[in-house]
Amino acid sequence: MAAAPALKHWRTTLERVEKFVSPLYFTDCNLRGRLYRDSCPVAALSSFLTPERLPYQQAVQQDFRPAQVGDRFGPTWWTSWFRVELTIPEAWVGQEVHLRWESNGEGLVWRDGEPVQGLTTEGEKTSYVLTDRLGEGDPRNLTLYVEVACNGLLGAGKGSMIAAPDPEKMFQVSRAELAVFHRDVYKLLVDLELLLGIAKGLGEDNQRSFQALYTANQMVNMCDPAQPETFPVAQALASRFFGQRGGESQHTIHAIGHCHIDTAWLWPFKETVRKCARSWVTAVQLMERNPSFIFACSQAQQLEWVKNHYPGLYTRLQECACRGQFVPVGGTWVEMDGNLPSGEAMVRQFLQGQSFFLQEFGKMCSEFWLPDTFGYSAQLPQIMRGCGIRRFLTQKLSWNLVNTFPHHTFLWEGLDGSRVLAHFPPGDSYGMQGSVEEVLKTVTNNRDKGRTNHSAFLFGFGDGGGGPTQTMLDRLKRLCNTDGLPRVQLSSPERLFSELESDQGQLCTWVGELFLELHNGTYTTHAQIKKGNRECERILHDAELLSSLALVRCTQFLYPAVQLQYLWRLLLLNQFHDVVPGSCIQAVVEDAMSHYEDIRSHGNGLLSAAAAALCAGEPGPEGLLIVNTLPWKRTEVLALPRPGGAHTLGLISSAGDSAQHGLCSCSCPHFPAAPAAPAACVRSARAPADSFSRLPSPTKTDGSVTLDNGILRVRLDPTGRLTSLVLVASGREAIAEGATGNQFVLFDDVPLYWDAWDVMDYHLETRKPVLGQPGTLAVGTEGGLRGSAWFLLQLSPNSRLSQEVVLDVGCPYVRFHTEVHWQETHKFLKVEFPARVRSPQATYEIQFGHLQRPTHYNTSWDWARFEVWAHRWMDLSECGFGLALLNDCKYGASVHGNVLSLSLLRAPKAPDATADMGRHEFTYALMPHKGSFQDAGVIRAAYSLNFPLLALPAPGPAPAASWSAFSLSTPAVVLETVKQAEANPLSRTLVLRLYEAHGSHVDCWLHTSLPVQEAVLCDLLEKRDPAGHLPLRDNRLKLTFSPFQVRSLLLVLQPPLD
Ligand SMILES: [Zn+2]
Repeated sequence: MAAAPALKHWRTTLERVEKFVSPLYFTDCNLRGRLYRDSCPVAALSSFLTPERLPYQQAVQQDFRPAQVGDRFGPTWWTSWFRVELTIPEAWVGQEVHLRWESNGEGLVWRDGEPVQGLTTEGEKTSYVLTDRLGEGDPRNLTLYVEVACNGLLGAGKGSMIAAPDPEKMFQVSRAELAVFHRDVYKLLVDLELLLGIAKGLGEDNQRSFQALYTANQMVNMCDPAQPETFPVAQALASRFFGQRGGESQHTIHAIGHCHIDTAWLWPFKETVRKCARSWVTAVQLMERNPSFIFACSQAQQLEWVKNHYPGLYTRLQECACRGQFVPVGGTWVEMDGNLPSGEAMVRQFLQGQSFFLQEFGKMCSEFWLPDTFGYSAQLPQIMRGCGIRRFLTQKLSWNLVNTFPHHTFLWEGLDGSRVLAHFPPGDSYGMQGSVEEVLKTVTNNRDKGRTNHSAFLFGFGDGGGGPTQTMLDRLKRLCNTDGLPRVQLSSPERLFSELESDQGQLCTWVGELFLELHNGTYTTHAQIKKGNRECERILHDAELLSSLALVRCTQFLYPAVQLQYLWRLLLLNQFHDVVPGSCIQAVVEDAMSHYEDIRSHGNGLLSAAAAALCAGEPGPEGLLIVNTLPWKRTEVLALPRPGGAHTLGLISSAGDSAQHGLCSCSCPHFPAAPAAPAACVRSARAPADSFSRLPSPTKTDGSVTLDNGILRVRLDPTGRLTSLVLVASGREAIAEGATGNQFVLFDDVPLYWDAWDVMDYHLETRKPVLGQPGTLAVGTEGGLRGSAWFLLQLSPNSRLSQEVVLDVGCPYVRFHTEVHWQETHKFLKVEFPARVRSPQATYEIQFGHLQRPTHYNTSWDWARFEVWAHRWMDLSECGFGLALLNDCKYGASVHGNVLSLSLLRAPKAPDATADMGRHEFTYALMPHKGSFQDAGVIRAAYSLNFPLLALPAPGPAPAASWSAFSLSTPAVVLETVKQAEANPLSRTLVLRLYEAHGSHVDCWLHTSLPVQEAVLCDLLEKRDPAGHLPLRDNRLKLTFSPFQVRSLLLVLQPPLD
């Protein structure tokens, strides 16, 4: 027995223990130095370098050349395969033997043709256990392969993590050797590190802290690193300490293994496939060694990749899932951005995700899992509930720059009143390591103390994958119940949420969006990605609608369910939380753009196929099929294609009030007949000769141009700025007195760190209006159906803009078609409209609805929202009048005071140095209105801007008359989606999704001309509501909505008549 401790000096005692376990100091004599005592080099090392990501079978057949530890290989994104031949010394019989491997590239060990473990120095996985105990007769010669990717866990940024990847970076294996692992030493190290953590974490005014420190000190006294026979005494001291139990009121931490893998970020999608394999095979190995370890895993897409590329590993994952150790969570296809995707796209994340989880793992996920997204739409609670989910986990709001979110466990109430139980792990991380510090923070930082006594603790390296380690597990197991600390249990999401649910009655409620006060630049960065997103959401909407109508109208038509699923999954993939926000490297942007290109080309192919089916069998001349994919009548000017690539303007209009339903005769000799609600089919169009609808020529005086369509009168100054916008009928002016709209402004845009992500509050202080040269404004289109004016604007020495301001006959808004050549560094371009409107709040469209945000900076919660997101429109209204700003592909916006501002382009340089450089095209529109925006039809106008009438070439005779499939009795309800039901690809059942858009309780009659046999309500996953049968009378059915409610229904069609 060692002498009784003589010293009471806190610092020397603490540092003495630290040195005893240090990997840096005194390793010649300390305990750490004894962890791997005997070692020997690998018998032979050879390698094969390739720019491709080859499958194992192909890689191992290549020509391997002799290699040495320390050889450099690369460059970035290449792969070096190592053949590692091992001979374990006979003298090591009875010992635990590891392959120690260290590299700055991410490695994967293959044994007998299967992946067995990931190896990354960054992820603290630097050894592979060859045998727990080498037996007498065990084979001592074996060959492994290690596949080393030329990238680190977080890519290959040049100089900093988020810098653009260094294309020339070289990689190295710095250690490859066999070694004897001394588990008794390891266990003492774990204990001593935890004791140090307790001593430091609880601090000098806590008696338990001193107990921990003196226990550790006494262990050092007892333990002679050179004499393993002294270890058990030290071990016993530790066990006595950790065995001293806490009281019943201790907080319980649910430690859940996790590995956040960004589906693409600082590395391309294809590397993520391998990241999943490396991370998950390691997790499987840990599950097999630790039966109580539970690992939560999200993102169906990643599982599908592993299923396709690593079938052996996938089978093991499914086995772990059967045992309850591998727990699929989230329910979505990927962890998507929480702001930008449309409502329908969010539904599809769950539809594709949940059906994958059900099919592959036998059940759907019961919690939505989105730890790392840049804000959360107020419609998510309703979408979750409609997809069978009542539980939500995230932590990203801990990144708020200004305000501390007041809860970690609370009820989150969405726009429509739906509620879910939300939990933010109070440690404010999804990548915990199992340290005492983190465990203590989880308790002290918890902002719902006294309301619930349970919280989540997600451990494992994340973002770039990696996941948990055995050491993390050993730490957490040791802390299961020790006085002075919270209780720690290896747990599952199910157990965590069940406990939280039992405390539900105590919890507070947060209503509305969870706005992240950071990363507001992601609403704007990478404009082409945003544009692709909006455009492809439209294409898939239109393709599904037209295919559904073709299914009804044409008995031979096969609904392209497989192709649509493929295209939807591409779109959903691009909605990942580092892709659509534009916070990814250039290689990811290129992949994302090619995904959009696939959706465009295949989607347009599907539109043509459906158009062909709709035209078949109808008598009449060849021509154009004009389709309105929105559920209301429209009168719009449309550019109709002419032979030779030219276009003619045509006015497409409903032919009278009675033209809503059924086949509508193409009776007007001058212009084609009505594209009524949705889908009307018309022959080739001619421009009207009808003077009633003609627009006078734009007038030009003193360099200014006035456009007037009888609804709006628009006056542009000689530089293209808007000096007046009058609602003709009321004479009401929309532009603030003495101010000009359509004012382009540039800001310096230098964030604190997260370049592509962040625009900071202080950028507002650098506002510089861009002044044009008088005299550049010219008349474009000369009236008739359309009047326009255009101008050029030099934004800076390197960037220029041209814009056509367009006013169509009958149109309630003026459009601004804009082209920008953008070559800037850390600048932000916006366009401003000071309105003659006063209101303390502005309205912004979100998924399936809209919400209000303040127009002032009263409190920190108000000014932290200096830059916000919106979908297709925003509106500033006072009583009786307002001004709406619509857009076709933008998301960043703000209204401060009376100024509506649309964010157009940024120029961040990391992680993509080329972000947003080059040519851009976009359209925004301005709509002054009388009354409320609801009554004035702003929502419909924004839809119209985003869903232009389709003019599809009719390959055969086009139908002679127009025809309408659906219409609604109230403008408050939008028919958002028409598609075939998922369940049976051959079924003649359609799904309709509608939502209440005004924020009102309303009854709505849905009229359809389709041969419907049965109508029944269903949830967002298309599961029938057993009590949801809807009586159908005179082709009409009645639906009741509450504000912003989303409703889905199944329409079972009558069998086709042969
Ligand atoms: Zn992430």
